[in-house]
Amino acid sequence: MKKKWILLEYDKYFKYSQKKYMHCNNCWNENTRVLDSRSSENGSVIRRRRLCENCGNRFTTYEKIEVFSIIVEKSMNRKEKYEKEKLQDSIIKATNKRNISILEINEIITRLENNWSKKSEITSKEIWKDVLDELKQLDEVSYIRYASVHLNFETSRDFINFIQDNLNSK
Ligand SMILES: [Zn+2]
Repeated sequence: MKKKWILLEYDKYFKYSQKKYMHCNNCWNENTRVLDSRSSENGSVIRRRRLCENCGNRFTTYEKIEVFSIIVEKSMNRKEKYEKEKLQDSIIKATNKRNISILEINEIITRLENNWSKKSEITSKEIWKDVLDELKQLDEVSYIRYASVHLNFETSRDFINFIQDNLNSK
């Protein structure tokens, strides 16, 4: 008897898990009405009060932007969480007074995050290389600045060689 009940519950769950719309958490009906929407955290979270038109249940749902996350492997086997703000800051510094908008910088970051989203870990060297590839297309001065900060050149000759090798081969 109990086994049959569990199977029925499972069937119900399976059936409803295929549904496309928000369902009532009381009667599983999909006919729910939004009574009130409120955004918070600068619009990255929307809270909705809903009413089930079938049973009258009121409940709350949240819609939020998924924050990209990845582990960054640094030198000496140190690991830390990826921080978008840090990456953004480093690109803002490299593009200072180059007439490049924050929108263009964010486009680069979004493109990179999309590429990185297939992995669970990335090295900081991979990040620098990918940023350099982007900056090379966008603005050579920013590219050189970013390289000078992130790639540890021993001598100025090494730096000049790097620029010659990488910008002339374009
Ligand atoms: Zn309901």
